[in-house]
Amino acid sequence: MANAKAKKVFNELIASCDTFLFDCDGVLWQGYNAIPGAAAVVNFLKKSGKQVIFVTNNSTKSRDKYVAKLSSLGFPSERKNTFGTAYTSAKYLKDIAKINGKVYVIGNEGIGEELDNLGIEHLGIGPDDTSTSQDYDDIKRCELQENVEAVLVGFDGHISFSKLIKAGSYLRDPNCIFVATNDDSRVPLGDSDHIVPGTGAMVKSVCIVAGREPDVWCGKPGKLMFECIQKSHDIDPDQTVMVGDNMKTDIVFGKQNGLKTLLVGTGVATEETIKAILQNSDPALKEQTPDYVLPSLGDWADFCS
Ligand code: PLP
Ligand code: CA
Repeated sequence: MANAKAKKVFNELIASCDTFLFDCDGVLWQGYNAIPGAAAVVNFLKKSGKQVIFVTNNSTKSRDKYVAKLSSLGFPSERKNTFGTAYTSAKYLKDIAKINGKVYVIGNEGIGEELDNLGIEHLGIGPDDTSTSQDYDDIKRCELQENVEAVLVGFDGHISFSKLIKAGSYLRDPNCIFVATNDDSRVPLGDSDHIVPGTGAMVKSVCIVAGREPDVWCGKPGKLMFECIQKSHDIDPDQTVMVGDNMKTDIVFGKQNGLKTLLVGTGVATEETIKAILQNSDPALKEQTPDYVLPSLGDWADFCS
């Protein structure tokens, strides 16, 4: 996109929006590296008085850990402006489901920290290979605890046969709530040779074992994430833009909540995706077609000095 087009999008959004919601991976950073120029843009927006909120589907970190990561990559942030699915899941369980019992977790320490912060008892985090075969005695060693009121599934690099046995068994009780963080199919690893399963693959495994779909999704594009943000922030959807790299999560999230949407080409969507959108907008993809496109958030850095 020519610089003039990037400037036009920048001017329009600066004039029409008082709030900027930023997806993280693929917009601000790729893995461990900040996207060049992105921090200058985000910090300029904050200095100009815009409300800046970070919104990630990644369940592996607590709010505190995201604040640390954001800050270390040049995006100083505060807990209250940082929303991840570990946090929104814990908030759902506490404030909406109002559970009193335990939560069985397929997920990692990020979820554990947020559940601990809200005083929710949980089990399941960490490796579990209690059962490794189909032998019945072996399976019986997968002890089930009493008073498990919810199963929460997020990203878990230790997902195992034993964990699926336990999740499926707890979910046989129709009163046990099935909570999922997000449906991202793969962990985005740029041009790596490897394909890494995302949380969606883990949730789907539990769905198949349990014969149920999640009762609630706590990440984008679901409504709960937006409601969670709205509870603590004054947001006028007409004056808010969602900036993301994933059409199925970020752009659908923005559209379903009445926000303006900007797609960048530095993550799941690439510069080729952006070109295709500009050339012919497919009506079948209307729900996922952004209002604005930009190859990289860093393309705005020149307008931010
Ligand atoms: N879930 C996991 C486990 C990830 O590693 C990532 C990206 O790194 C995501 C989800 C997507 O995160 P975001 O919503 O910030 O793009
Ligand atoms: Ca992303």
